[in-house]
Amino acid sequence: MESDNKQPERKSLEDRNKMTDLERIRHSCAHVMATAIAKLWPDAQFAAGPPVETGFYYDVDLEHRITPEDFGTIEAEMKKVIKENQTFEKVIVSRDQALADAQKGRLAALAERDVPSKFKLDIVQHIPEGEPISYYKNGEFVDLCAGPHVMRTGNIGAYKLTHVASAYYKGDEKNPQLQRIYGTAFKNKTEMEAYFKMLEEAKRRDHRKIGTEMGLFALDPEYTGPGLPLWLPKGAAIAEELEKLAKETEFLAGYVRVKTPHLAKEKMYLTSGHLPLLYADSMFPPMELKEAADSEVVERYYLKAMNCPHHHRIFAAEPRSYRDLPLRLAEYGTCYRYEQSGELIGLMRVRSLNMNDAHIYCTPEQFAQEFNGVNEMYLKYFKIFGIDKYVMRFSTHDPSKLGQKFVDEPELWKQTEDMVREVLKKSGINYLEVPNEAAFYGPKIDVQVWSVIGREFTLATNQVDFAVPRKFGLTYRDKDNTEKTPLCIHRAPLGTHERFIGFLIEHYAGNFPLWLAPEQVRVVTINDEEPLVDYAKSIVNELRANMVRAEGDYSSDKINGKILRAEEAKVHTMLVVGARDMETGNVSLRVHGKGNLGAKPKAEVNADILASIRERRP
Ligand SMILES: [Zn+2]
Ligand SMILES: [Zn+2]
Repeated sequence: MESDNKQPERKSLEDRNKMTDLERIRHSCAHVMATAIAKLWPDAQFAAGPPVETGFYYDVDLEHRITPEDFGTIEAEMKKVIKENQTFEKVIVSRDQALADAQKGRLAALAERDVPSKFKLDIVQHIPEGEPISYYKNGEFVDLCAGPHVMRTGNIGAYKLTHVASAYYKGDEKNPQLQRIYGTAFKNKTEMEAYFKMLEEAKRRDHRKIGTEMGLFALDPEYTGPGLPLWLPKGAAIAEELEKLAKETEFLAGYVRVKTPHLAKEKMYLTSGHLPLLYADSMFPPMELKEAADSEVVERYYLKAMNCPHHHRIFAAEPRSYRDLPLRLAEYGTCYRYEQSGELIGLMRVRSLNMNDAHIYCTPEQFAQEFNGVNEMYLKYFKIFGIDKYVMRFSTHDPSKLGQKFVDEPELWKQTEDMVREVLKKSGINYLEVPNEAAFYGPKIDVQVWSVIGREFTLATNQVDFAVPRKFGLTYRDKDNTEKTPLCIHRAPLGTHERFIGFLIEHYAGNFPLWLAPEQVRVVTINDEEPLVDYAKSIVNELRANMVRAEGDYSSDKINGKILRAEEAKVHTMLVVGARDMETGNVSLRVHGKGNLGAKPKAEVNADILASIRERRP
C-alpha cells in the first residue's frame, strides 16, 4: 500500500467558511462514507476527513483491511444514506459534553460503544480554549466537526471511492498507522464522468510514458541519482527552444543576463535566512572543506536551492544609483532541492531544476509598472502555448501573524499588497486573493494553468520581496542622495524546464508545434536511387543551414513503412520526394496529425517552415 503522510494544516474556522460548494459536497461525502463504514464495521475509529484537491478522504483505524474489493459494498451503503436525504444537523456542545461522548465511543459512530472514540477524544482535547465545539449529525451518525456541509445528504450528486493509502495519525510515524480511504464527489454524474474521462486522457498523455517513447529524457537513479533527470538530445532541443524564447522575450523587455555558479558558501544562506532552519530540509547537505583529512572543517559549501542570493550579490557587486533601476537580472539558473525520495515524480517533482529565473530590483515608484510587465509576459507566453485557462493565486499576509509567520513590516506589507492588487485589477487578469498564505518575505502569486485536457498545474511563483535585499545590505543612491533598499520581484514565468516540459508533453500529447518539435522535418525518399537521395539531401542541407532540425530517411524500406516510422516518432513535418517531385522541384507535404497535404513547390514549403518556426506558430 502506498503511504501518504501529507497532512493538511488544521483549518481555522474562518478558512473553513471559505470552502467552495464542491469542497462542501466532498467533505459531506466523507461523512456519508464514514456512516456507511460505521454500519458495516461498527468498531471503526475515525480520525480526520478533510476535502482534498481531487475529492476527500477519511482516515480510519480498523482491523479489517479495506481494499478496492470493499468499495462496492461501502458505496451501496452510501447510496442508502444519500437516498434517505438525511439533514446535516449542527449541534453546538460544551467541551465536557464532547469529552463525555468521546469517552462513550459515540463520536464518528452510530451509537455508543464499549471503547472511546480515541482519535476524536484526542482532537477534542486539542481544540483551542474558547473555540466552539460542534457536532454534525446525519441520521444516527454523529461526528465531531466544525463544518461546513451541504444541507442534506441528497445534495451529493455523484460519488465514487477511488483508492486506499496508509497514513500515520497526524502524519507522525510515532502514531498508529491508519487506513486513508479516498473518494471523490461531484454536483452531478455528468461532471464526475468528465473528470474520470480527463484522468484517462491524462494517463494516455503521461509525460513519463511519452517522454520515454519519444526519447526526451531519462531518469537514472542508480548512477546519476533519483530526481536528477538527464535530458536526451530530443528533450534538450525542446529545453533550448524554451530558453531561446525566454532570452528573446526578456531581452525585448529590458532584462540583462547573468551567470552564476551552482554553489555558494554557507554565509550566503545564513544571510538570506534560508539557513540554519528555514530551508535546511530542502537543501542538499553541505560539502565540508578541510585543509587536511584529519583537520577541522574550515568551510561549508551548499548547492544552491534558489538563484536569488547569487543575484543579490551581483546587485551588490557594483555601486547602484536610482539611474540603474529597474535592474532586471535574468538567468536560466540550475537549482538543487533535496525533495524526499518518496515524493519524486518524473519531471514534476525533481531534485535538479533549470529555472527561468529573474530578479527585478526597483524603487517603490517603479514597482507597479514592473509588476505589470511581468504579468504581460505571462499572458504573452499563455498565448504562444495555447493556455486558455489560468488563475493567478495572490497570497497575502495576515496582520495578526506579523513577526511570526510573516516578517514584521506592516507598512511594506500593506504598500506592496495594495500595489499588486491594483495592478491585477487594472490589467483584467484572472486572479484570486488568498489571505494568510503569503511567503515569509512578502506577498506571492502562484500561477496555475490548465492543460488542454483540463488538468491543473502550478507552473510558477512570483514573489515580492522586501526583506531579503535588506538582509544583504543592498542599497541604491536615490535622487536625494540617500541610500535606500530596493524592492525585489522574483519571477519565473516558464517555471523550470522540468515542470514546464512535463506540462507541455501532456498539453500537446507529445505532438509539439513545429518550432518546439525535437525533429522538425524529415525528408523521406520513395526509393534509395542516387539522384533522388541527392535531391533529398540538398533539401535537408538547405533546411539545416537555416537551423531547422531536419533529418533524412533515404533507406530502401517501403515508403509506407518510412512514413509510419516518422509518424510514430511524432516528426512534425514530412517531405516525401519521388522522381516526379525532383523533376518539378516539388515536395509532397505531410504534417503530423494532418496527413497528406499534397505536392507543393519546394521553395514555398521551405519558406513556410521557416516562417512558422520564426513566428512560433501554435
Ligand atoms: Zn464535517
Ligand atoms: Zn528568487
